[in-house]
Amino acid sequence: MIWNLGSINADHVYAVPHIPAPGETLAATALTYGLGGKGANMSVAAARAGARIAHLGAVGADGGWMVERLESYGVDCAHVQRREGPSGHAIIAVDARAENAITLFPGANREIDLDAVKQALDKADPGDLLITQNETNGQVEAAAQARARGLRVVYAAAPFEAGAVRAVLPHLDLLVLNEVEAQQLSQALGTPIEELPVPQVVVTLGAAGCDWIETATGARHHVDAPRVEAVDTTGAGDTFTGYLLAGLSEGLEMQAALKLATQAGALKVGRHGAADAIPSREEVAQAAF
Ligand code: ATP
Repeated sequence: MIWNLGSINADHVYAVPHIPAPGETLAATALTYGLGGKGANMSVAAARAGARIAHLGAVGADGGWMVERLESYGVDCAHVQRREGPSGHAIIAVDARAENAITLFPGANREIDLDAVKQALDKADPGDLLITQNETNGQVEAAAQARARGLRVVYAAAPFEAGAVRAVLPHLDLLVLNEVEAQQLSQALGTPIEELPVPQVVVTLGAAGCDWIETATGARHHVDAPRVEAVDTTGAGDTFTGYLLAGLSEGLEMQAALKLATQAGALKVGRHGAADAIPSREEVAQAAF
């Protein structure tokens, strides 16, 4: 079973002729609403991969539809908390050249009651997985509580903030970073990735796949990504991480779980959209990369 302390965002995507300049008022030509947030994307990916996943997070009074959407993908939302204020949401302006400007309001994602998270984790079994990212409050507390209960703790260091990663590092079994985050972390800590105080590190490399590092020995293994035509990389990292966790939770070896994750990530980048574009396990199997 996987437990995800993660963000749930409403993405409001406005099509605009150009990104508005300071002081400018501009009419958008289209508006779409979608489910987003790194946490929600990872939960959907793990559920689409066939894993049992419970989401630990919060939405505001306006967030009922997001919980329903998560549940429609098979994510257990019994522990998603309700807040009186607004849900986390992103105001995304996208111009004709696909340039974007994003304003993110964390809302309920930063108001998660940690006592309720602890109570939810009391229901976990040793060997379960906890995943968390940097779009909610409570990562360090949840990671420490999960570790104390015998869970394996995974952290996706995004959006990157050196202080947040530094604080959670001692509680991790596995750290997942993209290439830019890996450079930033290495620089901030003055330590090569191979020497981080975390047993395992995965660095995603976009079209080049990923590297997996076992820090005890410094061994670095590479997994190639399938070659595809990328049309939209939104959520590629979240799809990868959700599938990686699903693979690990069903007992796959790291190499096999990474292969599954790269295949799912590659299928995602061939499609437009975020959570709703994440492929199912069947689609990944049928792609026969
Ligand atoms: P994002 O922020 O866009 O969600 P990210 O920067 O966190 O992504 P990436 O390293 O870009 O993460 O991508 C994650 C994984 O998705 C890669 O390891 C790879 O398996 C897959 N992937 C991403 N881009 C491509 C691509 N162009 N072709 C094939 N696979 C890709």
